[in-house]
Amino acid sequence: MGVFNLPRYRMYWGTRTRIPLIADTMNFNRFSRLRSFVHLVDNTSKDPDNLDRLWKVRPVIDIVQKKTQTISPSEHLSCDEQMVPFTGNLDIKQYIRGKPCLWGIKIFVLCNADGRVLSFEIYQGKKTNMAEEYKSFGLGAGMVLNLAGRLQLVEFTKLYFDNFFTSLALLERLSEMGLYGTGTIRSNRLQGARLDTDSDMKKRGRGLFCEVVASSGYTCLVKWMDNRSVILASNMIGSGAVNKVRRWCKQTKAYLQVDQPQVVSLYNQYMGGVDKIDQILSYYRTFIRSKKWTMRLIFHMVDLSICNSWLEYVADRKAKAERSMDLLSFRMEITEALTSAEGMTPRRRGRPRSLTSSEEDEHENVDESASRKRKMKFQRPCSAVKNDAFSHWPQKVKGQSRCKNSPCVLKTRTMCLKCNVPLCLEEDKNCFKEFHIKK
Ligand SMILES: [Zn+2]
Ligand SMILES: [Zn+2]
Repeated sequence: MGVFNLPRYRMYWGTRTRIPLIADTMNFNRFSRLRSFVHLVDNTSKDPDNLDRLWKVRPVIDIVQKKTQTISPSEHLSCDEQMVPFTGNLDIKQYIRGKPCLWGIKIFVLCNADGRVLSFEIYQGKKTNMAEEYKSFGLGAGMVLNLAGRLQLVEFTKLYFDNFFTSLALLERLSEMGLYGTGTIRSNRLQGARLDTDSDMKKRGRGLFCEVVASSGYTCLVKWMDNRSVILASNMIGSGAVNKVRRWCKQTKAYLQVDQPQVVSLYNQYMGGVDKIDQILSYYRTFIRSKKWTMRLIFHMVDLSICNSWLEYVADRKAKAERSMDLLSFRMEITEALTSAEGMTPRRRGRPRSLTSSEEDEHENVDESASRKRKMKFQRPCSAVKNDAFSHWPQKVKGQSRCKNSPCVLKTRTMCLKCNVPLCLEEDKNCFKEFHIKK
């Protein structure tokens, strides 16, 4: 449903708007009954001492959190806020300026530079989960330590965060932990560090910067004047080397070359991990038309898992210099694996028509010859279905067909009922077994 967006549930089963992939898997009544009775915990089992606002969906959050923490962290990580769109009634609902959706449930996320989520925590006001030792740092800075503390980070891992999180105490603590941190910082958190004033710097021109080092000697503050001033704090680098960036000048109506300290370019380069996963999530977000925030969170966790897995898969393939499928094909393959894993729904012959890969468009346009039709008759299932070791039953059929366990070319009368392909099953030849074992 995240892929085929229809404005009303009924339409997936409607005569003119039917989506077979959905309608053939489950009938409408079963779907709507299951949907209205989804529960992850027994509502009567709540412990009165449990102050967790999210206890109703805690099981799924725990599973996803545990899994994300097994992904190997890259050299550069970014920490930011993510929003799950939700406008209904909920006390922990938040408003964030400058995000694509203004209202929703806020999640603090620590990401790899490519967008893979490593660790996250859902905001719930004062009750937000945080290890006791980090509480004194305040919500923002404490959250960075809290999220990073759950991972096995190698020494000198570089973290980036925005001014919601940055404080001098945070950077000192990261230094003690052997980690690097860089972030923009609010001018009221400088603890008396004296930097040139805005008006002073403006007079001297764009691209100018000044820096000071904290008394501990670990943290450096850099104030840079672009269009507006920005202050960055880091325990990794001072201003660094100076690069040139192109900027538009309103007065002269021409491009200018402006000096930019390295700390700013590093921050810009690596801060975007959370924006990346947000963008990927937005492509096929499962839109649950429900007033229940629990449903939104459950499906956010599903979507997050899919996107994270896809990024993990892409990184894996890239390491082997192999091509990878796009997010849509990946998502459709999961769908196919899950809808046929149940073992009750007969596998539809061939891949679903509604899939829009270039290969299938070809089949539709070309005048199909007889031999091509025969080829189309038995299509191999995706490997996730083939190797799931669940409900693959053999069946003897009337006519003989060519075995699909390549390179075997013998003819056989045995079929796999789930995969819908012919496979030899003889005393001296067991293609049936070979075909279903992962190579
Ligand atoms: Zn099979
Ligand atoms: Zn065979």
